[in-house]
Amino acid sequence: MKPPAIVILGAGALATARRIQRAFEGAQVHALQGRVDADVAYTELGAHLRDLYARGTPIVALCAAGIVIRCIATMLADKGAEPPVLAVAEDGSAVVPLLGGLAGVNVMAREIAATLAVAPAITTSGELRFGTCVLNPPEGYALADIGQGKRFVSDLLAGESTRIEGDAPWLDDAALPRSASARLAIRVTPRAWDGHEDELVIHPRSVVVAVAGSHTCADGDELSTRVLKALDAHGLAALSLAALLAPTGRMTDPALAGAAARLNVPLRFAAQTVDHEANAPDLLHAALRVPYETLQNHADDALELALALAPLAIDPATIGQARGRLTVIGLGPGHRDLLAPAARRALDEATDLLGYTTYVEMAGPLRADQRVHGTDNREEMQRARHAFELASTGRSVVMVSSGDPGVFAMAAAVLEALEHAANPAWDAVDLSIVPGISAAMATAALAGAPLGHDFCMLSLSDNLKPWSIIETRLRHAAEADLAMAFYNPISRARPWQLDKALDIVRQFRSPATTVVLGRDVGRPGGTLRSLTLGELNSSDVDMRTMVIIGSSTTRRFARSGASGDAHDAHAADGAAWVYTPRSYPA
Ligand code: SAH
Repeated sequence: MKPPAIVILGAGALATARRIQRAFEGAQVHALQGRVDADVAYTELGAHLRDLYARGTPIVALCAAGIVIRCIATMLADKGAEPPVLAVAEDGSAVVPLLGGLAGVNVMAREIAATLAVAPAITTSGELRFGTCVLNPPEGYALADIGQGKRFVSDLLAGESTRIEGDAPWLDDAALPRSASARLAIRVTPRAWDGHEDELVIHPRSVVVAVAGSHTCADGDELSTRVLKALDAHGLAALSLAALLAPTGRMTDPALAGAAARLNVPLRFAAQTVDHEANAPDLLHAALRVPYETLQNHADDALELALALAPLAIDPATIGQARGRLTVIGLGPGHRDLLAPAARRALDEATDLLGYTTYVEMAGPLRADQRVHGTDNREEMQRARHAFELASTGRSVVMVSSGDPGVFAMAAAVLEALEHAANPAWDAVDLSIVPGISAAMATAALAGAPLGHDFCMLSLSDNLKPWSIIETRLRHAAEADLAMAFYNPISRARPWQLDKALDIVRQFRSPATTVVLGRDVGRPGGTLRSLTLGELNSSDVDMRTMVIIGSSTTRRFARSGASGDAHDAHAADGAAWVYTPRSYPA
């Protein structure tokens, strides 16, 4: 299950929220911006709860049940996944499961109540009577039909007893009225339900379909239809499918990814064990670590499907390997509000994280199961190769940069490593780059709009390029009257370069030119200053500073009053707005 969002409105609920958080791996506390600082900030409760609900995120709201109900009421008419929703009293004295009976809300309610040492307010009759939700089988099992299930439970509540056919270890401790001669039966089977009214059918996800052969399907629709037909031909339920399996050589085949998505199962890969074209039974043999029976499917064309039927549910994570992922993300300047949701998602889904320790720490909180690979001593290319090595074993790797990953950061190094390696296993990695808000953008926004007209970004570091190139570019940019954003302006190892750079700029730009200095923008203790080129001294700048040199048209005027933004860095000099007009004087 996804970790829950623990949502609070005020500081009074924070202690209880933190106690609940400890019971759920990966859970985060969401707090109303400006009131409390927790893990995630939101600005409007209703919109935030609806958003979480729509994403299927379990919600533990520390407020009145009525507030929660009113907030998500408009979402309830829509069918679809209903995540667990609970209201918990701020002081931890009451735990009320509201929605998501089939998604395990009562199990969560019991867990939270145990943590808080109170009794959960469980109202589900079946749950109260039998001590478990019969309609909510554990991971690896799927209920065949919810309508059938509801009828079945109401029959049980009306006093009937049931048999259990097949393996249902999770019901061992349930207080179910059992009888070997009962009319009703709970049947745990991979076979498709035959419509028998007196049965509650639960499918163990115990079937794996291996896809091989030289025929490639046009798309995921065609392939998923073929897989469903093959299951049907053997009398197996679609919900019994645990995973699709394919040869590693076909990791990038979109039809496979499309079919797995349509069938809503993981896609796994196995290496070919023999030299010739992988055949489907070979794949099963290579990938499965449990006993199973092979069912061959015969088709007219060269698409070969073989089905493995195991006696119990199979954990897809144990089958062969996944297609690895490498996502290069930028954290933005630091404040979590300026982190792209796509980057947040990649972080949540990551099994492995790489990057400078400082940045990886900024990306937290992480779960205990997420591996962090400290790479402080490694140079960029080595780090990029390390990322591909991990990803090509099937892991979901996130490479963390600050700001934007494509601006003086890891994205280019990752692509360079990929191009030069010419390694098919690396080529098969699902690589993507998620943009971030770069330091120049973040600094500019705080100051106003100094980059409102043409500008350039320059790194003043001569670690990766000769100083002469930097001088040439500075001269041209200064002469072209571009506003300039300087990254890596100075460091202990590069003490004189900034003064040299400023000397060049001063040849073309007047001492009155507006300059903006953003230091640790979006981070604790961040500061912003605006001054003139004449006033600027290299001692005002360090390696955590963004230097923006205005063009000849960049202007500055006094602002009235500061904003109350949490990531606002106007501490030192919030007195001015700086902007470069859109139009250029003729
Ligand atoms: N990829 C990053 C830049 C990495 S280069 C980005 O897009 O922002 C590192 C330089 O960026 C630093 O030397 C500093 O000049 C600038 N920088 C990064 N984060 C900053 C911040 N929060 N505030 C001010 N400058 C920052």
